[in-house]
Amino acid sequence: MTSVSLHNTSTKTKDTLTPSSDGIFRVYCCGPTVYAAAHIGNFRTFLLQDVLRRVLEMSGYHVRWVRNLTDIDDKTIRGAQQQQIPLKEFTQHWIDVFHEDCQKLQIRTPEVEPRATEHIDDQIRWIEKLIRHGFAYAVADGSVYYRIASFPRYGQLSCLASHNLLPAQAKNITGDADEYDRDNIHDFALWKSRKAEDGECYWNSPWGQGRPGWHIECSVMAMRYLGETLDLHGGGIDLCFPHHENEIAQSEAITQKCFSKHWFHSAHLMVDGQKMSKSLGNLYTLQELQDQDYSPMAIRYALIAGHYRQPLNFTLQSLSTATSALQKLAKVQKQLQVIATTEAIPPMTHDNISEKTSASPLTNAWKALREDLNIPQCLGIIFTETSPSALRTLSPTEAYRLLHDFKGIVLGVLGLTLPEVDTDRRNATIIPEQIQELAEQRLTAKRQKLFDKADQLREQIHSMGWRIIDHPDGFTLEKDHS
Ligand SMILES: [Zn+2]
Repeated sequence: MTSVSLHNTSTKTKDTLTPSSDGIFRVYCCGPTVYAAAHIGNFRTFLLQDVLRRVLEMSGYHVRWVRNLTDIDDKTIRGAQQQQIPLKEFTQHWIDVFHEDCQKLQIRTPEVEPRATEHIDDQIRWIEKLIRHGFAYAVADGSVYYRIASFPRYGQLSCLASHNLLPAQAKNITGDADEYDRDNIHDFALWKSRKAEDGECYWNSPWGQGRPGWHIECSVMAMRYLGETLDLHGGGIDLCFPHHENEIAQSEAITQKCFSKHWFHSAHLMVDGQKMSKSLGNLYTLQELQDQDYSPMAIRYALIAGHYRQPLNFTLQSLSTATSALQKLAKVQKQLQVIATTEAIPPMTHDNISEKTSASPLTNAWKALREDLNIPQCLGIIFTETSPSALRTLSPTEAYRLLHDFKGIVLGVLGLTLPEVDTDRRNATIIPEQIQELAEQRLTAKRQKLFDKADQLREQIHSMGWRIIDHPDGFTLEKDHS
């Protein structure tokens, strides 16, 4: 195994990711709330998590990956009520849309994808434990709250001391204005009693009819599939507080063990320099961008190309840039195949990755991914190492090796599929540097009206097996097969 390091929100340092003692690396990522199509801000997070997963697997980690589906909350209930259909039918539609989008974006399927509604009994049992141990209390209307005062570490992950929580932030914790019977305004709901507007969306519990709070769903599903301590927990930075703080409080209060060794948060996505919001109409979905003829691969590229800890400003221009970057990479791949004289390259695996034998031009690109998931640096190195001047000097053996790593990183780890390139020989063939120089000298001679010199150069180039085709903007070179 080759180690991978990543900034840890919990320790605020770059930490080496270490599997549990049984060699398994356990990951839980908060999944989508399935009441509408996920927008590109959600997908930035899921895509970055997908690249991290591929980096870990290529580094030899045995990864167990769980990402949930939040199918019960205010929004899913409201949606089902508005359409007058059962909750399950409503959420299934959006789950299908989410899966289709993930497939188009080449986000790999988690090994387990639990739904909150399938784990209600576990959630009830966990809430009972919290009440028994004094961490939670039921109120008159049948709701249950977590008592933040009972957990002194509350707020450590997001660096918020619980006594510093402002009323405005406290409001975010539940969002319910009528929860006046809580002991403390900061306490958050573990169980919400049934309200008239919930319709038939309710479950029976020891506290009466109702439904679980969003936070308890994640804690319980994470521990159900991964055990009491996770190796890594991921999500967008907006989930750090209060969602992840609450997950820690609910879990650690009972287990007395660290809930997650590593917390991986990705920064916000901005659109045209502004925060995404419904009112600005900039919550793009994958379908909306596809309707404007942008390919899912260009969207994948644009959303992963920035560093995960920096907010990314998404624009339609960035999709055009991504489209040309993909074409450039496709052309490089084709050129490498021509020089290497083969397209048959064994896939890169942890066992045959170049740095295990000797340095390859892309060793540092691979290293950048393993050190704090530095995708922009990785891409920068790839473009430098495959520039036309770098390709011109390659021997077939070197090209073969470079192509092997190029495919491993670009296709395997970054998860991109490259467009078909024009197989025209003129585009695919590498022109030797010397021929290019002679042809440029000839063009200069022609422009200076030194026609004898220009003719001589043409002859010389021809004797070396190349043909010049003149056109108004300059010339192209073709291999002479006559
Ligand atoms: Zn969650």
